[in-house]
Amino acid sequence: MGAIVLFDSWPTVMGGFLIVNGDGATTEHEVRKVQILDDDLYVLHVERGGLEFLPGDCVALFDGAGESRPYSIASGNGEDTLRFLIRKLEEGEVSSWLMARQPGDRVRVSPPFGWFRPGQDIGDAPFVFVATGTGVAPFLSYHHSFAARPPQQILYGIRQRCYAIGFDEIAGWCPVRLAISREATEAHHEGRVTDLLEGVPVDPETHFYLCGHESMIREATDWLQARGVDLLNIHREVFFHE
Ligand SMILES: Cc1cc2nc3c(=O)[nH]c(=O)nc-3n(C[C@H](O)[C@H](O)[C@H](O)COP(=O)(O)OP(=O)(O)OC[C@H]3O[C@@H](n4cnc5c(N)ncnc54)[C@H](O)[C@@H]3O)c2cc1C
Repeated sequence: MGAIVLFDSWPTVMGGFLIVNGDGATTEHEVRKVQILDDDLYVLHVERGGLEFLPGDCVALFDGAGESRPYSIASGNGEDTLRFLIRKLEEGEVSSWLMARQPGDRVRVSPPFGWFRPGQDIGDAPFVFVATGTGVAPFLSYHHSFAARPPQQILYGIRQRCYAIGFDEIAGWCPVRLAISREATEAHHEGRVTDLLEGVPVDPETHFYLCGHESMIREATDWLQARGVDLLNIHREVFFHE
């Protein structure tokens, strides 16, 4: 049976209330490794411990002081490890604490929850993924779970080429276009990911999944709606606000 759980620390998520499956109890998971990719970017791997989830689900990860933040699961639902792509914010309490974990440490995890379901519940309709930064996480989870039904294409915006986590995994799966905003590039688009929308065929059947920074999501939504895409076909998950 579902339970309503109050999370004081997430006032922006559904007004502070989240509906989670099961009894809402948190579980402890052993850290397998923390892959540091840059000063402010890492991949946290923890044992799955039998947690059931759907691609697009988040969990709340807790720090040692009991503070929690939502993070989207990036691993597939057939894997025995849970992976999270995490950007460490300056003076970020939970993102810094998680980055400092060592193999064998334990992290408290809430039951999975979510309403963002990339590529799911839309029958045979075509779909496109658009991500900025760690917003690619739910799309990597989809890739590792439903590899047989790729999106029409993926538009992926990052600051520099080295931040394109998962690019090599998804590049052979469907057309992937990278937009690099803070580094010169000849191989990819230099600029913002929303510039790439011009190259996407827009038809009324197509569903668009947008995840990452609020400004991208707002801009992409305006662009799509101006071209006649119904808001019901635009699915959005904001990780970072202005
Ligand atoms: C549904 C959902 C899923 C998410 N999934 C991911 C994910 O997969 N990977 C990931 O890296 N992050 C994700 N986030 C963001 C994450 O939950 C935290 O907000 C982030 O890690 C900062 O937490 P913190 O405790 O480190 O920072 P805090 O200690 O809370 O804050 C440090 C500073 O950063 C500012 N800040 C905090 N959070 C945000 C924010 N979201 N946007 C802009 N400024 C902020 C604060 O105002 C403060 O100045 C997700 C957010 C949501 C709502």
